[in-house]
Amino acid sequence: NTRVVMRRHPNGMVTEADFAIEHGTAPEPAEGQALVQVKYLSLDPYMRPMMDPVRSYVPHLNPGQLMPGATIAEVVETRDPGLPVGTTVACALGWQEYGLVSAADVRIVDPEAGPISAALSVLGMPGVTAHYGLLELTEPKAGETVVVTAASGAVGSVVGQLAKLKGARVVGIAGGPEKCAYVVGELGFDSCIDYRSATFEEQLAEATPDYVDVLFENVGGPIFDAVLGRVNDHARVALCGNISQYNADEPYGLKGVRQLLMHRVTVHAFVIADHRGYWPRALPELSGWLADGSIRYREDVASGLVDAPKAFIGMLTGLNFGKQLVEVSAD
Ligand code: NDP
Repeated sequence: NTRVVMRRHPNGMVTEADFAIEHGTAPEPAEGQALVQVKYLSLDPYMRPMMDPVRSYVPHLNPGQLMPGATIAEVVETRDPGLPVGTTVACALGWQEYGLVSAADVRIVDPEAGPISAALSVLGMPGVTAHYGLLELTEPKAGETVVVTAASGAVGSVVGQLAKLKGARVVGIAGGPEKCAYVVGELGFDSCIDYRSATFEEQLAEATPDYVDVLFENVGGPIFDAVLGRVNDHARVALCGNISQYNADEPYGLKGVRQLLMHRVTVHAFVIADHRGYWPRALPELSGWLADGSIRYREDVASGLVDAPKAFIGMLTGLNFGKQLVEVSAD
């Protein structure tokens, strides 16, 4: 049973040396448990703040602890009649090859319904986050201007497509021309701006002639400030992520507080883990939109747990193109 643990707390930018690979034996299921083999592991930005020894909405990791994470796994041995051998489940086993679950811990995934990995992206936590943050918190109306940061990523890609379904004018912000071309050409956003461009702020102003009614904020830092410079009165912000700051040595001092006040902006800071009851509302809608082609998604799949630290660092620096997964064991 290969496992990846946090070796030490990172100091600023996380490095591969902050992780350690361990090898052990697979655990034995007790009565009421099943042994599962992990097929896919989801690598998510929230794992990075969990590595810092600071107060948060979940306890932080300590050196030697298994890296946490959502997984898709298959039952290989069972002592739980609710989980026959061969059942595919979504569960939270972290960065390891094998683990124990019971029926109460898992969501059954139907492999006939589509690629099982989608249960970690558009039909999983990132999709539900997009649905909740955009539709439930900011409620975009037809004709409004919605800006989405980290627009090509797991959450942002779904947010923009949902905003289009609601009839909004959608402007993405992403890193690099290739991602921007995908956001407009494949995902159907009205425009997408490369924040690395020297003329980013001018392009943002051109793309938001009627200013911004809704911001779905995933990155924080200077990009957040730039969009706050374009908000309309009574704009709504879904404050979802702050990824530009997760590895920062010095916290960025937000300048847009003045804009928040002058334009009486409502900021909805949220963490989807607080809203477990929302999943059954979001998933059927997301499945329907995926099935009828209204939403599309893209995955970036690394191979093997040994490469997970590298893929994780890549995702935190924008090397991923779409939802970052690790194929832990191939069929
Ligand atoms: P993504 O698939 O979007 O991958 C992360 C992306 O962040 C990278 O590809 C990169 O895109 C962008 N990024 C990284 N560093 C920077 C930077 N310095 N400045 C600008 N962009 C950067 O990840 P997710 O969709 O899984 O997560 C997106 C955000 O949503 C994260 O902040 C995450 O913490 C948050 N989140 C919050 C949840 C909640 O419950 N509140 C739940 C799920 C996610 P690019 O190449 O375009 O720069």
